[in-house]
Amino acid sequence: MSELADSPFLSGFVDLHAHTNESDGSLTPAELVALGKQMDLAALAITDHDTFAGYEKALPHARAAGLDLVRGIELNTRLYVDGGRTHRSVHLLAYFVNGEPSGEFTAWLEDERTERRNRNKALAKVLQANGMEVTFEEVEARGRSLAGRPHFARILVDKGYARSSEEAFRRYLAEDSPTYVARKSKTTEEVIGIVRRANGIPVIAHPIRLGFARDAERELIASFKRAGLVGLEIYHSEHPPLLQAYYHQLAKELELLPTGGSDFHGTVKPDIRLGTGANGNVRVPSEFLKGMRAFAGAE
Ligand SMILES: [Zn+2]
Ligand SMILES: [Zn+2]
Repeated sequence: MSELADSPFLSGFVDLHAHTNESDGSLTPAELVALGKQMDLAALAITDHDTFAGYEKALPHARAAGLDLVRGIELNTRLYVDGGRTHRSVHLLAYFVNGEPSGEFTAWLEDERTERRNRNKALAKVLQANGMEVTFEEVEARGRSLAGRPHFARILVDKGYARSSEEAFRRYLAEDSPTYVARKSKTTEEVIGIVRRANGIPVIAHPIRLGFARDAERELIASFKRAGLVGLEIYHSEHPPLLQAYYHQLAKELELLPTGGSDFHGTVKPDIRLGTGANGNVRVPSEFLKGMRAFAGAE
């Protein structure tokens, strides 16, 4: 595990975006806590996709080690573009710095899980109808409670229907492929509202992936702010330093809290280090977390 560490001297810095093997990371919650402690992080947020299971499992280890652990989650939301004709996926981070989210949030998360299972069943049927031997049960066995298209992709590769995950997506799983099966999904604005009502702090993750030109991106983020958005992830492994400076300025102008994190996934994305990102491009000061806690306390 130590080969995943970059520098052991990160006191005064935090990492607010990291995944365990409860979603798509490689480290167990206990291993992630140990790594954060080894690097002397001032605080660590676990932000697995669609589940708090990693955070819950990590909590006793963090308490024993004296590591400040923050409850987070990364959510898939839908953004309609071209007048509603097409949509893309926007990742929203939600932080609960004052404890557990309220009932509405938990119930919604449960609905999302059911919706994804239904989609997986339908997708398996469509693939079978197109001559591919892929069963829902195999996919569930691979991806556990978070089984989804990446697990379909790996099975398609293993069985020789595609040479790579990218090819499996392009030919069978992507939105513009003939066998695509959509699942119902809430819009970014709706999910921002759900997070706020649950006393959470909604943050746009890695805005670079929104994929808009600057003016359009600024207008979009401003519209999210009007819907209740609180923060913008300015430090991220995929953000070069100049872009981080730009997003920091944008956050100031739109009165959004700056946040940041590596988006660490362990050996799944070996170039990304906990706390320091890719080639050391991430350093998140503890003041960012203090700002989030001050915001939550002020509500
Ligand atoms: Zn993401
Ligand atoms: Zn992430």
